[in-house]
Amino acid sequence: MNIPDIIIAIDGYSSTGKSSFAKVIAKEFSFLYLDSGALYRGVTLFAIENGFISDDNTIDVPELTSAMNGLDLHFGPQGTYIGERCIEKEIRGLAVAGKVSPIATVPQVRAFVDSKLREFGKKKRIVMDGRDIGTTVFPQAELKIFMTADPMVRAQRRAAEMPGASIEDVLKNLEERDYIDSHREVSPLTQAEDAVVLDNSDMTMQDQVEWLKALISERFSINQ
Ligand code: C5P
Repeated sequence: MNIPDIIIAIDGYSSTGKSSFAKVIAKEFSFLYLDSGALYRGVTLFAIENGFISDDNTIDVPELTSAMNGLDLHFGPQGTYIGERCIEKEIRGLAVAGKVSPIATVPQVRAFVDSKLREFGKKKRIVMDGRDIGTTVFPQAELKIFMTADPMVRAQRRAAEMPGASIEDVLKNLEERDYIDSHREVSPLTQAEDAVVLDNSDMTMQDQVEWLKALISERFSINQ
C-alpha cells in the first residue's frame, strides 16, 4: 500500500498501547517514530536526580527551568539519552511514572519539549505519540488518532511489562496520570476535533493495523 507523505499524530490515555502501535506503523510504513512521552520522562528523571522535585511532588520550577538550559536530552540509537547516557531503562520505571504527570504540567517544561518535537515537523512521514500531538504540537497533522481502552485491560498490559509491579499499583498510577493529564491548564489531554477514536480493548495489534490501513485508504482515496 502506498502511504502518502503525512504526519500521523497519536494521542490518548496512558497505557493504551500508543507507542507499541506507533512503532508497528512506523516499521510497516517506513515512517520515523517519535515518542514524545519519553522526553517528558527524561525531564522527570533529570528533575528527580537533581532534587528539583520532592517526595510529595513539589517542583522547584525556577531551578528546574534554569537547569533545563543545560539539559542535552535527545533521541539516539538505543532510545532516549541525556548527553551520552542512555536513560531508556530508568525512564520506564514506576519512580519516573509517579512524577512525570506533575512535571508535564509545568509550562516551561512543555515549551522545552515542544521546541524539540516541532523540529521534527519539518519532515513528513513521521508518527508521533503523546497527549497533545494532534491538538498542540502538530495541529496540522493530516491524520489524528485518539486511543482509548478499558482501564483494567490497560493496567494488565502495562503490569505485564513491569516485573514486580502489581496491577493495583499500575492501575492507580495510570488513573492518576489520566486525571492530571486531562485537567492541567496547558495543553490538556483532549481529543482533537478531527481525531478518529480507536478503542483497542478487544483488538489485536494486527486488527489495529488493518483498521488504520482502511482508514488511510478511505481518507486519501488509495486502493489497497
Ligand atoms: O506516553 P507516556 O506514558 O510515556 O507519557 C508519560 C507522561 O508524559 C504522560 O502521562 C503525560 O503526563 C506526559 N506527556 C504529555 N504530553 C505528551 C506526552 C506525554 O504531557 N505529548
